[in-house]
Amino acid sequence: MWSAQRLHVCTPSSLLPSERSSFFSERVAEKNQRTLPSSCGKKVRDVSRVYSVLQWNRKPQYAGKAPRVVVVTSGKGGVGKTTTTANIGLCLARHQFKVVAIDADVGLRNLDLLLGLENRVNYTAMEVFNGDCRLDQALVRDKRWTDLELLCINKPRYKMPLGFGGKALVWLVDALKKRPEGCPDFILIDCPAGIDAGFITAITPANEAVVVTTPDITSLRDADRVTGLLECDGIRDIKMIVNRVRSDMIKGEDMMSVLDVQEMLGLPLLGVIPEDAEVIRSTNRGYPLVLNKPPTLAGLAFEQAAWRLVEQDSMKAVPVEQTPVKKSFFPFLG
Ligand code: ADP
Ligand code: MG
Repeated sequence: MWSAQRLHVCTPSSLLPSERSSFFSERVAEKNQRTLPSSCGKKVRDVSRVYSVLQWNRKPQYAGKAPRVVVVTSGKGGVGKTTTTANIGLCLARHQFKVVAIDADVGLRNLDLLLGLENRVNYTAMEVFNGDCRLDQALVRDKRWTDLELLCINKPRYKMPLGFGGKALVWLVDALKKRPEGCPDFILIDCPAGIDAGFITAITPANEAVVVTTPDITSLRDADRVTGLLECDGIRDIKMIVNRVRSDMIKGEDMMSVLDVQEMLGLPLLGVIPEDAEVIRSTNRGYPLVLNKPPTLAGLAFEQAAWRLVEQDSMKAVPVEQTPVKKSFFPFLG
């Protein structure tokens, strides 16, 4: 079994990596050697190890009340929000959950590209607001997995339309709930980078959040800031995905480990996605990574994260900061 599953959300700590004891970093490095998958799909043994964790013979059990409105956010741009939304959305649809993925990155939308649906977006939410089309006309159904639908807010390169804000997105989510086809199980909102109006709009209807971060200090600081803002907005269910993890760099102590990230952000871990050239290839082909056959490690990691999202699970806790108390053979000797 992929033992990263047993890793835990440590208590948030203000310690900087440099301030930690060498004993701690050695333990972390040692643990990562055992837990993290390598960065590409070459190691078949590793793939089968992760593969065995996924229980393909059963559907994950839906936790919570439909629809679960999940915003995928990060603060920093380019860390993998859209990649996460596309791949998790597709995994959920493959498990026959009804999913609507909303691209709330108004000016720079690209979720349609990642899903390979760019040629099929004729109408957007703006046309729905203006009364030029119905909501179901603006929803683009994926032909491969028909439980996935895409909704774009606006045409590419347009600025945030006047009057579009949190209330408008809440209205859209309510309209999705009341569709005659039935309420979706998941509404995934792909959030724009930054913490300005676009971010506020995207988080307004959400009741859960997935914070995507990479293991670097700039991304972590932004993720921390965003987590604070989400909490201020009343979103309590926040999980994180650590993306673009390179085990070779972690071993060389050139990259922060997942445990370091957990410790700094203090968020439950939904998934650890390795750096994988296949992600870039699939982005450019408009063919989400999770559809690749044979599956790559990053694809399997997304699959596992989707599974955890459905079951409202997170990687279990091991208090890594607690050093085991050494007991001598004769207890009275101390
Ligand atoms: P965001 O939506 O946060 O701006 P994207 O999802 O668009 O970020 O990803 C930015 C770039 O990073 C894309 O080119 C994508 O292919 C690449 N990328 C994302 N995740 C990975 C990964 N795990 N390995 C390699 N490249 C990745
Ligand atoms: Mg994006």
